[in-house]
Amino acid sequence: SIIFLNGAFLAAEEARISPFDRGFTFGEGVYEVCIVVKGKLIDAPAHLARLERSLKACDMAPPPEMANLPALMAELLQKNAIHNGSVYVQVTPGVTPRNFTAQPQGRSTLMMVANTGHFETSPAFTAGVHVQLQPDIRWLHRDIKTTMLMPQVMAKRNALANGLADTLFYDADGLTEGASSNVFMVDTQGSLITRSLSNLLLAGCTRERVLTLAQNAGLTLQERPIRPEELPQAAELFVTSATYLIAPVLSVDGIKINNAVIGPKTRQLQKLYLNYIAA
Ligand code: PMP
Repeated sequence: SIIFLNGAFLAAEEARISPFDRGFTFGEGVYEVCIVVKGKLIDAPAHLARLERSLKACDMAPPPEMANLPALMAELLQKNAIHNGSVYVQVTPGVTPRNFTAQPQGRSTLMMVANTGHFETSPAFTAGVHVQLQPDIRWLHRDIKTTMLMPQVMAKRNALANGLADTLFYDADGLTEGASSNVFMVDTQGSLITRSLSNLLLAGCTRERVLTLAQNAGLTLQERPIRPEELPQAAELFVTSATYLIAPVLSVDGIKINNAVIGPKTRQLQKLYLNYIAA
């Protein structure tokens, strides 16, 4: 495939990154995943705004291409002849001696990869997922979209080993988020509930879009933690992310939600979301 690295489009096999890039030595890095449907990037402005926030929070210089990213993402898709899929955008600080506080002299490293994908026909979207709960062992700046994903990798591998699609994390107050998604519950009154934004979870672009669609549809919204003890009584549960879109959750730790049937509000929001991306 053709990737983008530091100002150039090149074959992935040709790409070279310094072993002294702080992304490699210190695990410093931030990223975004934006999907493309029928040639259109979905919620690209929200993803790029979050990238800027992540960079600022990590004290990382934006790459020189920052202002030009939408055009470069489009060019990357075009060079790979991808109309449906995703673009991965990663920024690391670039090269310094392996010294904790050294400031890079050169540019931040920008790497972008495009992949083919049809997320609206994926099994997760159309049929739903079975998940498990795990304590949220991550750091307390989950609002920053960093590439330090060891806890998520461990959680997802553990889910896979248990024959499940994913893991939802919880803390003392309730569910925080999925390993790479936000979590929503519909209660027996029909209210849509998701945790409010803070340092304890990522501000998902899809979460924001779903809240807007739900509000416009006249659904009752509540932003508060979902307690694990509430799950057996939940009317519906789903997770959101750029690649899940809206994935129905059919069971948690073996406890079926709505008898493992996709609920009406989930279906309604899926339909609204599909209309939104098709518009
Ligand atoms: N939380 C975490 C921890 C994530 O990794 C992701 C996906 N990147 C999300 C939530 C969902 O964010 P978005 O809807 O912007 O993809």
